[in-house]
Amino acid sequence: MIFTPLKRMAALMLVLLNVQLAVAQQALQSPAEFLGYELGEQFTTQNRILDYVKYVAAQAPNRVKLQEYGRTYENRPLMLAFVASDENLPRLEQIRENNLRQAQLVTGQVQGNQPAIAWLSYNVHGNESVSSESVMQVLYDLVNPSNAQSKQWLQNTVVILDPMVNPDGRERYVQWYQQASNRGGNASPYAWEHYEPWPGGRPNHYYFDLNRDWAWQTQVESQERLKVYNNWLPQVHADFHEMGVESPYYFSPAAKPFHESITPWQRQFQNTIGEYNRQYFDKNNWLYFTRESFDLFYPSYGDTWPTYNGAIGMTYEQGGSGRAGLAYKKQDGDTLTLHDRIAHHVAASKATIQATSEKADQLKQEFRKYYDSSLKNPEGNYKSFVIKSSSGSIGNLRMLTDYLGQQGIAYGYAGKSNSVKGYNYSNGKTESIKLAPEDVVISMYQPKSILVKVLFEPNASLEDSLTYDITSWSLPYAYGVQAYAVRGKVDMSQTKPATESTSITIEKPYAYLAPWHSLQDLKFTTKLMEKGVKVRMAERPFEIDGTKYEPGTVIITRTGNERMGGAFDSTVRSLAQQFNVQLGATTTGFVTSGADFGSGNVRSLKMPKVALMSGEGISPYGFGEVWHFFEQQINYPVTVLNTSYFSQVPLHEFDVLILPSGFYGNVLDEKTLEKVQDWVRSGGKLIALESAMSYLAGKKGFELKRKSDAEQDKEKGNGKEKDPYKNLRAYANRERAALDSEVQGSIFRIDLDKTHPLAFGYSDNYFALVRSSNAFEFLADGWNVGVLKKDNYTTGFVGKEAKDKLKDALIIGTQNMGRGEVVYLADNPLFRGFWQGGKLLFGNAVFVVGQ
Ligand SMILES: [Zn+2]
Repeated sequence: MIFTPLKRMAALMLVLLNVQLAVAQQALQSPAEFLGYELGEQFTTQNRILDYVKYVAAQAPNRVKLQEYGRTYENRPLMLAFVASDENLPRLEQIRENNLRQAQLVTGQVQGNQPAIAWLSYNVHGNESVSSESVMQVLYDLVNPSNAQSKQWLQNTVVILDPMVNPDGRERYVQWYQQASNRGGNASPYAWEHYEPWPGGRPNHYYFDLNRDWAWQTQVESQERLKVYNNWLPQVHADFHEMGVESPYYFSPAAKPFHESITPWQRQFQNTIGEYNRQYFDKNNWLYFTRESFDLFYPSYGDTWPTYNGAIGMTYEQGGSGRAGLAYKKQDGDTLTLHDRIAHHVAASKATIQATSEKADQLKQEFRKYYDSSLKNPEGNYKSFVIKSSSGSIGNLRMLTDYLGQQGIAYGYAGKSNSVKGYNYSNGKTESIKLAPEDVVISMYQPKSILVKVLFEPNASLEDSLTYDITSWSLPYAYGVQAYAVRGKVDMSQTKPATESTSITIEKPYAYLAPWHSLQDLKFTTKLMEKGVKVRMAERPFEIDGTKYEPGTVIITRTGNERMGGAFDSTVRSLAQQFNVQLGATTTGFVTSGADFGSGNVRSLKMPKVALMSGEGISPYGFGEVWHFFEQQINYPVTVLNTSYFSQVPLHEFDVLILPSGFYGNVLDEKTLEKVQDWVRSGGKLIALESAMSYLAGKKGFELKRKSDAEQDKEKGNGKEKDPYKNLRAYANRERAALDSEVQGSIFRIDLDKTHPLAFGYSDNYFALVRSSNAFEFLADGWNVGVLKKDNYTTGFVGKEAKDKLKDALIIGTQNMGRGEVVYLADNPLFRGFWQGGKLLFGNAVFVVGQ
């Protein structure tokens, strides 16, 4: 409900008269009074929203405390507002510690009265812009001293508001809208203001979807948020979104599938909060729906991740998004306004806080129970997960343990040599494992065991395949480590066993030798090159001083680096330490077997000049993943090109051109594609990912061919009667029938030709997350480096037709073209930035192949 300024003024006068407020105490201004316009009349920028939040905090220092918890990539502040009663605000720190004591993450007894904690997050998707408008009203209503209801709620509830989770995305949308819209907004669905330009405001600076990043923690916004979140662990977390403009409003109960680890209590309380919402919406005669979409399975959303951390995780969806603007005329003839959208999200916020307050005791009790049984009686078949610390996986293992630390998951070390039985992730068999003291052990007997189970279990059971995201993510596959799931407890020690000292005793070695197994090794090598160190790479296995080295081993000889003088050794050694690389050294270039360091089979690595395509037609996500890889993960220069002027770019300025997933029909017309091919023929390297690869299939000069549907039919019909009723299908089953031909992010084992530079650093196979049933034939004239053979499906949902299609298919390969090369990657190892085990593969494509 929105008061007109006049009515508000009258109400305000009454309050003033009745309670005879001291003259010195100024009445709290509403958002409208502060901003100078009613909420919903225009969009409010982040600066002004934070101005209001700061104003409220300054006016009500006994009710509101602010915390800047980080900065975005574009250096915008990320803020939290803690709202509590006069009694609770001064003891916030005690309340926070109490809460972690309830979760048994901190030892000690709960001190004093403990309120429940509700955390409300707004605008994780930038162009779902209503959320951050609503939060100003929610804050005002909570703090307004004349609001008896909210005063009551705050007696036993602390409310944490994150007014804008994704400011970079939201500003992108709001700034654009202000430029493109008619004065006061134009409701015509054809008005320009309803058509956001590329890349849209939904994702963050690097075009990552922050509502897919809670579990993976690849983006700075998520990393900073998780630090505070893990310090608080609220009982309720609500995430405010918008969906398609024609839809009304969505609140819980959520749709199936629910992950099996969601407790009966969490399911039940979803309904309870839904009931509170229903009352608010029914009273106002607003339309809504429940249970039909928005499932609770994939662990990286703002509802599921908090759920796997003991909270009731909620998603709210208002119809609107980047399409809605200030007003939008819908197909049913009604006009959806920003005013309406604000009112709905304010109501859902209040329903959530009210439910938390009225059920606070039950929420706290169940929260304690959740953590208690997680610690003492963890669910699931497996009680321990063991990660082998074999030399090949040291870099990946280090990334995994860092990650566990971020998530607040405890781990230890086997501590001694021992034998246990476990499920081997790489072959699916249960077998005996010989433990080494430094193997990492993650026990399920810990407060966060449900999160461990969700992230580690080899096969997440899916009660229904109608989910709208990937269906498998098991961390041992994502990190490319050798792991086992064990049914019993495995003894472990908290201290890392001292490993043999690996310090190099040779003072001035003939050459240093570095492994090539993980992203860390790639970072080390590119940093060396950037510092001017000449680096070589072995193409074949070799043996020297009794030690065996694999293809891909990085060789850093003194020869060729003379001009660095004394700085040579210190540079190499200190960088190795910085990147945690186990460096070896030798006094000779003469190998016992393999190729000597001076051989033609030892190639020099160069620093390629890399160009990356962005712009209209390109998937912002696909582009952003590559951009983030270069700038934030390996810190290597990359030049971003744009499709709008690509045909004018003198390609000879670059060594590598990367085409992320996208629609290339308007970008690479016949003439431009011919130009790209000329550049490849003269020595360029073209890397095509996912749908960019599909675009090149069948084009003149490219060896790549799609597995034709006709051939599929022929194979299927082989020896079998064709089913005459095949096309008779029930309309009501259409969504489910479409799933037959889908693969929704499932894990497959890819067979690798590890002798090819594209697979250096890998063993005979690699586990990839396959997200498309686009299948390609083996290259007749090229290198089929990574292929799917017959039975390589590992885990996740795959429709029957898609499963057939993905047999005997090319996933990664290369083709020579003149003096250059084309690299095909149907699997995008940079997807959402979390598939750590695949990143070296992409590194090989850029830095190793064809040099
Ligand atoms: Zn959203």
